[in-house]
Amino acid sequence: MNGLMMQQPLLVTSLLTHAERHHAEQEIVSRRVEGDIHRYRYRDLAQRSRKLANALAGLGVMHGERVATLAWNGYRHMELYFAVSGSGAVLHTLNPRLHVDQLAYIIDHAEDRVVFFDLTFLPLIESVASRISSPKVFVAMTDRANMPEAHGLPVTLLCYEDLIDGHSDQFAWPLLDENEASSLCYTSGTTGNPKGVLYSHRSTVLHTYAAALPDSLNCSARDVILPVVPMFHVNAWGLPYIACMVGAKLVFPGPALDGKSLYELIESEQVTLSAGVPTVWQGLLRHAGERGATFSSMRRTIVGGAPCPTAMTTEFQERYEVDVLHAWGMTELSPVGTVCSFKAQHLTWPTQQRYALQAKQGRAVFGIDMRIVDVDGKELPWGTHEAGDLQVRGPWVASGYFGGEEASPLCDGWFPTGDVAKIDSDGFMQITDRSKDVIKSGGEWISSIDIENVACLHPQVASAVCIAARHPKWDERPLLLVVRKPEATLRCEELLDFFDGRVAKWWKPDAVVFIDAVPLGATGKVLKNRLRDQYRDYYLTV
Ligand code: AMP
Repeated sequence: MNGLMMQQPLLVTSLLTHAERHHAEQEIVSRRVEGDIHRYRYRDLAQRSRKLANALAGLGVMHGERVATLAWNGYRHMELYFAVSGSGAVLHTLNPRLHVDQLAYIIDHAEDRVVFFDLTFLPLIESVASRISSPKVFVAMTDRANMPEAHGLPVTLLCYEDLIDGHSDQFAWPLLDENEASSLCYTSGTTGNPKGVLYSHRSTVLHTYAAALPDSLNCSARDVILPVVPMFHVNAWGLPYIACMVGAKLVFPGPALDGKSLYELIESEQVTLSAGVPTVWQGLLRHAGERGATFSSMRRTIVGGAPCPTAMTTEFQERYEVDVLHAWGMTELSPVGTVCSFKAQHLTWPTQQRYALQAKQGRAVFGIDMRIVDVDGKELPWGTHEAGDLQVRGPWVASGYFGGEEASPLCDGWFPTGDVAKIDSDGFMQITDRSKDVIKSGGEWISSIDIENVACLHPQVASAVCIAARHPKWDERPLLLVVRKPEATLRCEELLDFFDGRVAKWWKPDAVVFIDAVPLGATGKVLKNRLRDQYRDYYLTV
């Protein structure tokens, strides 16, 4: 039909070119792994991203190929966000908290061509390099003066600044199909290996629009945004893209995520909005509390990845006048799904009632449809006390996993989140439980099944069950329940030592409880719920 709107593809580079044109002087401040503070402007970001795009072409990176990063939040990482996706390749952010075997698996599975890494991760890169099947190009994200000796690497190691130095800052971003892949992030599944979630240019730009809205993450050109949530964890909840769209100042914390470093950065850069998991905010609140400090500029903080305890909301709001935005999302949702922002009628509610509302994960942002279903997949009504399996759909929700070797995860076109939730009559969703068998500790996943498998390798273990137990610092920690073989003399410490080298250090359970028998259901399935009910508060009581 004639006279319709233009067919302008939604591309990640349009965010960068917009920022360069309209917010060229806006600052991006990064605490570097080298220890100093680096500052430059959106115009520099755009210029250096184009140089990097030329450098990637020079390395022979082809359209659709994957380029990995193993890096903290910082300006070089941001340049990779735009140069890789913008030139038609796929940015693959690697999570350095994974066990080296998992990292090697992921790099091989994604068939990464080049791996960019921050200096902190050189030892990890050296361990990974000997485990991956095909040789890669490795690039240390630093300058010549800070280049390390890398005896452990079987390949040539390149230097980021040298790599981009000789290249032109002219690069015409290709007009890609908006449905092409822009980035890739693996998530730890309940069983088997981690699975890759592939974002498209279109899904990323649409998510950016929706997540920036006032009732979503509420970002504007007047904000100074501190994404504490890592850029390797679902693109730092989309904040690097959002900052470009709205023209906000960005402040990157690099590797320094302790309370003191964060507090100093928030104050020195006059941060107005920050984002991270509850564990990070505990450190910040402890630091501020011990010093009787206040926040002179911070007005809002986005808390997500795990439930935000009411005590945290209260402390932020009452003691520091920092509003908490409780959000829920997933890697498979790019990640924003719901945000708990008030409607007009809530503003006059009594304080305690408002805190109860803020404990909920919130209402769906436009673009996300959600529903709860019973065990037979029948949709449950909103506004009752009934909880059901939470399902979502929308243009930035994954329809499958990268590689596609597994059956589609969708149920009648809906993505099953593995979360169990209630939805009130106002559309506010509250997570009440989790049906997926995983433990979320400090915002990162631990597979309970992998822990059980390792425990069962021990010759004195008859059976083992690993559950998520509540923890005052990490939200959840793994607790191992073990039935010993007859005559076995196995002790807790001995079994815990058995985990050394077999799983990432922080995956090791904090405690082992020996039990007489594992409760089984009629079909022989372990009744984990019963054990969860019994031992959920173990770490709160010992
Ligand atoms: P990830 O894919 O690592 O971002 O993890 C997503 C999962 O984290 C969700 O399916 C929930 O189980 C959990 N999660 C995220 N945000 C929240 C929240 N605000 N409250 C409770 N659980 C959350």
